[in-house]
Amino acid sequence: METNLVFSPAYNTDLPAFGLDKPFALDRGEMVLARLARDLGRTLPYETPLPLTMEQVATVHTAAYLESLKDAATWLNIFELKDGEHKSATATKPLPEMIDDFLLKSGGTLLAARKALKMGLAANLGGGYHHAFPDTGRGFCVINDIAIAITCLKSEKLIKKVLVVDVDFHQGDGTATAFAGDADVFTLSIHSEEGWPEVKQKSSLDVGVLEKDKGRYLELLKAALDEALQKFAPDMVIFVAGSDAYEKDILPGTRYLRLPLAVLQERDRYIIDTFADREIPLAMVFAGGYGPDVWEVHYHAVRRLLERSGTMFDTKTEAAV
Ligand SMILES: [Zn+2]
Repeated sequence: METNLVFSPAYNTDLPAFGLDKPFALDRGEMVLARLARDLGRTLPYETPLPLTMEQVATVHTAAYLESLKDAATWLNIFELKDGEHKSATATKPLPEMIDDFLLKSGGTLLAARKALKMGLAANLGGGYHHAFPDTGRGFCVINDIAIAITCLKSEKLIKKVLVVDVDFHQGDGTATAFAGDADVFTLSIHSEEGWPEVKQKSSLDVGVLEKDKGRYLELLKAALDEALQKFAPDMVIFVAGSDAYEKDILPGTRYLRLPLAVLQERDRYIIDTFADREIPLAMVFAGGYGPDVWEVHYHAVRRLLERSGTMFDTKTEAAV
């Protein structure tokens, strides 16, 4: 049976080899797969993606920006590295070579989107670089895999109207900018109003949650999803399922929400079920999430996706698993 999971052990970027010891969004796919294998008593199959070609990347990003990625200074800027955070003396690989990792993980998003069109639900156990703008990268995001996957599938005429549901702690500003003025892509971003990025962009629908309103997070999310579906009838959905609004996220900048696991589990279940019930294809990507525990959020989301797609779990026997 074809798998609807996309992953590669090569997703785990060897940061020290690039001279970096910053706590980026570390690999969560392996943790999720290990936990699912424990639940099932067997290993789950996944498909390894092909890296994107630079031609595919150029459907979204400007030639000048892509050229600038050959310069290490551009990468230091994207990763916001301060003095001493890039140890060039111990690095064995130049920073621009990290493009290969981004091309692979972004190829995973395109493959997951193709699988969603075929199978209904699919997930890339990585990706979600929603802060990459067409002409610049930032916030650890080099190329916008979400925008590239949508643009490629639209140009192949496989889809016309796409809804992006972005629930990462941070606004999906790069994706919103990439599709500003495109009536066929509806960008919905539910994020913390407080914290980075200080200047927000304009999505089709933005819900900026204030810290004082975090008790109403699920209520606001459900209302926003209802509103998006009243305004827009998508052929498919890209679900940007960041885990950095979790209370165990360690990035100081995410302190404004700090939501419990049960809330995030309900968030992801609600989103997956909303589109599975309507038989609208949905591809999930991981996006942000920092520290050793955030994989727990992704685990529950992937598990729900597998339950609803009927590929790994039977919902009727869920209680017994
Ligand atoms: Zn984030």
